[in-house]
This record gives sequence, C-alpha cells and structure tokens, in this order.
Amino acid sequence: MPKLKMFFAGTAGLLLTLSPATARVSDQGDGVPVVRPDPQIVAALKAVSAQHIQQTIEKLVSFQTRHTLSSDVPASSGKGINAAAEWIRSEFESYSKACGGCLEVKTDEFTQEPGPRVPRPAKLTNVYAILRGSDPANASRMFLVTGHYDSRNSETNDATGASPGANDDGSGTAVSMECARVLSQHRFPATIIFLTVAGEEQGLYGSAHFAKMAKVQGWNIEAVLNNDIVGGDRTPADTKQDSHTVRVFSEGIPATASEAELKLIRALGGENDGASRQLARYIATVSKEYIPATEFRPLVVFRRDRYLRGGDHTSFNEQGFAAVRLTEYHENYDHQHQNVRTENGIEYGDLPKFVDYDYTANVARVNAATLASLASAPAPPEKVRVLTKALQNDSTLVWEASPGGLASGYLVLWRDTGAPDWEHAQAFGNVRQATVPVSKDNVVFAVQATDSEGHRSLPIVPVPER
Ligand SMILES: [Zn+2]
Repeated sequence: MPKLKMFFAGTAGLLLTLSPATARVSDQGDGVPVVRPDPQIVAALKAVSAQHIQQTIEKLVSFQTRHTLSSDVPASSGKGINAAAEWIRSEFESYSKACGGCLEVKTDEFTQEPGPRVPRPAKLTNVYAILRGSDPANASRMFLVTGHYDSRNSETNDATGASPGANDDGSGTAVSMECARVLSQHRFPATIIFLTVAGEEQGLYGSAHFAKMAKVQGWNIEAVLNNDIVGGDRTPADTKQDSHTVRVFSEGIPATASEAELKLIRALGGENDGASRQLARYIATVSKEYIPATEFRPLVVFRRDRYLRGGDHTSFNEQGFAAVRLTEYHENYDHQHQNVRTENGIEYGDLPKFVDYDYTANVARVNAATLASLASAPAPPEKVRVLTKALQNDSTLVWEASPGGLASGYLVLWRDTGAPDWEHAQAFGNVRQATVPVSKDNVVFAVQATDSEGHRSLPIVPVPER
C-alpha cells in the first residue's frame, strides 16, 4: 500500500507524507496539521460488546424460526417472526430509554403480495430506530445500517421448522442493533438510522419496500451499510477462515445510471468510481484510522455481491442510493440455509455455536466508526467538475460549497487510474476552485469536504466541464 501524500496548499504550503492509517488531520491554526482520532468515536467503539452481541444473537435464535411466512403466528406464542420483531422493537426502546428518549423507534409494516417464494399474501414488518441529527442544517442527511432478521432452513418456504439463523442474519441484525446501542450515547450533526428488515430470504422484499419508501419520500440517504453473514463462522476444521478480515462488496457502475451517465463512464473510465465504490473505500480508510489493521480490516471487493447471491444493499442501489454489503471472509455453506442435523459426522445448521462473537463485534466497530465519521462530517461538495476546455497539463477542479455549513475546507484526492485506492490528497481552504499540478488524463480525481476537526465527507468524482 503506497503512502498517502498530503499537501497543505491552503495554509503554509506544507508537504507531508502520512500513512493512510493516520490520515485524519486537522489544522491548529499555525499551518501545522495534526493527526488525531475523534474521541467521541473512540469511546463509542470501546462500548461495542461481544458479550452483548452474543446475547442478541442467542435471543434471536430462541424464537426457533424467524421465517417471513411465520408472520401469521401471533407474537404472544413467543415463536416466529412476529415475536422476534416485537423483541427487536423493545430492545430499541430500551436503548432509547438509556439515552433520554433519543431514538425514534418505528415499524414499516406492509402486506407482500404473492411471488415466487411467497405463496400467499404475507405481512412483513421492518423495525428501525432513528437517531436524529443534532444540527438542523444537517439532520436531513441520513446514514443507514441494516441487517435482515428473517431466517430460513433447507426448504425455502418452511415457515415452521427450526431456522436458527444465528449467522444469516442474526449477526447482521445484531450489528445494526449494537450500533444503535453504542451510538445513541452520543450526538451527531446528521441522522443515523438503525434498520432490521424482514423478507430477505424470500426475495429482498423488506429492504425493497423500505428503500422505495425512502426514495418516494425524498429521504437524503448518503450511505447504506448492509451486514449479512458477519458471524465469522468458526468451524474448527475450517482453516480458511480469516478472523481479522471482513469483505466489503460494492457495485462499480450504479444500477440507476442513465444512458448519458453510462456514456460518460465508458468515455472516461468511470467503471470503478460509482458512489457505492467510494463508500467502500471510505469504510476501509475509516477502519484504518480507528482499528489497528493487525486486529481487523475490511477487504474491499470490486463486485456487487458474491456469485449467484444477492442482498439488501441491492434494493437500495436500485433506488439510486450508495450501498455496500459486509460479509465474513470465508463462508461455510453447511451452516447457511440448512436444516439442523448431523450427517456423516458433519453438523449442519446455522447455530450460535459457530458464531465468533469477537469477530462480529469488530464488524460492528467498522460499521459504527463509518456511521459516526460520516454523520459527524460535512456534506459532500456539490456540482464537482473538472475543467476540460483548455489543453493543459495542470488540472483545475471547481465545485459548489458543501451545504449545511460544517465544511471549513476541501481535500482534492487523486490516484493513478490503475490504483485501487486514493493515493494523494491536497488540502485547500474554504474555496470553490483548486488547481493541482497533475494531468487529469492520467489520474482519477475526487473532492471531499472537511471540517476543522478532520471529519471528511464522502468523495465526489468530478464530471467534465467544457
Ligand atoms: Zn442473509
């Protein structure tokens, strides 16, 4: 990994070389940038508890099945998906009580009409909690974490047989809930939504309904983190598992790109720079800032999802939102979508004993660090363009101010077109235009808004302006 070069052009013209692990910077007013993590985020990550995550997953498993089609079984029976939904709701309420009522706990309930894996109309309930942003000028900006709380076994439509779903996706549900628990102890300028959805195993129905609602109602969701199978399966015989790595999948070309946008992507080599891909890189960068890479690291995979598999992030991509999927490094298919049984000495079934709770806690830390960093940061700059009218070897970028008033400066990022991640950054003050001594033909540029404490927005890749 090359070192990230930092140039400070806005102040004393300092040239620094920082490793990406310490790329959070601030300017103390004397032109000397200093590195420091945000103490509020450090405190939140410290509060993430593997033990609490274990309790959450074991409780989810205790409902015996959380199959979406079990929604005709009353919650009072203590079994089935309705009982699970009520419990998740009550947990969110208890986290809210612990922060003076800071969370708005809500449900999104609807009837799913019959489809390939839904033989009869089924009631679906998404359960979510909103930590409203503390800054009126930024509270409409939203960041969302999700996991699916429905489960299944070997039979797609078996709504009564045991479906523990500890890893798939009790783990992702627990990550969303744990983020709610620890982040609700803090306040952020922008809004964070903690979502748990139903209907994933029957065809992404819960997330599709929620994403469409968000789109129709004009929610300004800047990023979605979908956690699905983040239990870090720890079967003793599995030597391929990496308990220090979580994969982050992201689409390259946005699902909703228009013909004109696709034309631009083809012309300029934009295949690797969609908004979801930028989010994936951001997650990797923030993780390096807050979690030692030797302990845990995201592995960015340049692919929307695994072969033949899908997930709830795609529902959000299809409504035009930036969304990624986090999944354990090495999946064990004996422990996904399987009836609980032992055959030829092999244990099948998605049981809690195969979940590595320390691993899931680290995934929760990656999520919490990303959500808190983004919700603390200024909005991205708007209408970012690179000027292409004149043939010249310097590059000039122009943009409109980050809305919301949090930005105190901007970073211009760039990398070689063949490089996977940003390699260089040049800091500018509160300006709307910057020229860097690099040819736009040779690199990919982006612009980030920054505040005085070093929080950084998602990067925006410029479009050409003639
Ligand atoms: Zn799943």
